[in-house]
Amino acid sequence: MTGVDHPGSVEPNGVIGILGGGQLGRMLAMAAARLGLRTHVYCPDEYFPAADVAAAKTNASYTDENALATFAASVDVITYEFENVPVETVAFLLSVGACVRPGAMALEMAQDRLVEKEFVGGLGAATALFHAVNDLASLDAGLKKVGRPAILKTRRLGYDGKGQTRLTEADIDLHGAFEKAIEFAWAEVGAAPSILEGFVPFEREISIIGARGAEGDIRLYDPTENVHANGILKTSSVPAAVSEATAEIAGAVAANILNALDYVGVVGVEFFVLPGGAIVINEFAPRVHNSGHWTLDGCAVSQFEQHIRAVAGWPLGDPARHSDAVMENLIGDDVHAWRSMSEQKNACLHLYGKRDARAGRKMGHVTRLR
Ligand code: AMP
Repeated sequence: MTGVDHPGSVEPNGVIGILGGGQLGRMLAMAAARLGLRTHVYCPDEYFPAADVAAAKTNASYTDENALATFAASVDVITYEFENVPVETVAFLLSVGACVRPGAMALEMAQDRLVEKEFVGGLGAATALFHAVNDLASLDAGLKKVGRPAILKTRRLGYDGKGQTRLTEADIDLHGAFEKAIEFAWAEVGAAPSILEGFVPFEREISIIGARGAEGDIRLYDPTENVHANGILKTSSVPAAVSEATAEIAGAVAANILNALDYVGVVGVEFFVLPGGAIVINEFAPRVHNSGHWTLDGCAVSQFEQHIRAVAGWPLGDPARHSDAVMENLIGDDVHAWRSMSEQKNACLHLYGKRDARAGRKMGHVTRLR
């Protein structure tokens, strides 16, 4: 393609490498294809949802240096759809000259809940009270600091409510003694290095999907209001029932994170909103985010296209919302209602091509436009 030279930018017909092949990788690949870009997806699983829509795929582990080097040589830029890609994998890709966006720093910060809390706290964002837990004694000390109820979460590898357990007065009654209850909670997280968080008495949960381009420009989508069931996102709605002031503060926190990490790509930042409108950050994901799926149907440029634009070094698109929307995740058996949902007016159905509708598995989503 001809035009003004933009160093570091991937031209149409170029190839975006994606680490991870789940539904997020699938929707990234579809967005890339719309822009005339090809994708090469690298995934350790034998079958993966992005495989159906990618131009090329590599099925190998994140530690296979030969496969990683071949992958790096076949693409113009590499991104990830999954925050638990090992940091060593990204370091290896960088060592063979690959451009990886967002970089390794974002992964390092997001993979460890304790490091993440200290990082966002350092940027001036309010967090829940927290305490590092490495054994029963530090769990006991943590409960004195953060109070009860509290939530014990593994520092690494937790998602969708996994690797976490609550500690309430009712649990203590159930176990007949405080000591027994904390032993049970510690066993629940597999006695792994953990973080204890004070329970935030939130009124609602929101998230901000933000993007930062290769030249440092930032675009934010409207805050999304999220409802979880059993630790898994159930619905995301826009507009969120928050004041402009709350939305602005949340947007500023997201922008601070993007700038501090010299980030290129889309980030999802989750917040608790307290009665009165003050916000407490819960966590951020260095990738496109489930609570941003509504942007596929509610905006001219979705979070997936925005991420591809950013990592390809293109100008970012307009994040303005053209419709009010409610996105509902189709989890496990929910997906069997696909036929009736496909008949509903203003319902945009997205299925991820997964074979088995196992309990708790995200099989698709439907966004209803208002
Ligand atoms: P997480 O895996 O940290 O995103 O937690 C999943 C969900 O659990 C959150 O979206 C909240 O609904 C709830 N949760 C997590 N941490 C806290 C907390 N410190 N206080 C209250 N609710 C929490």
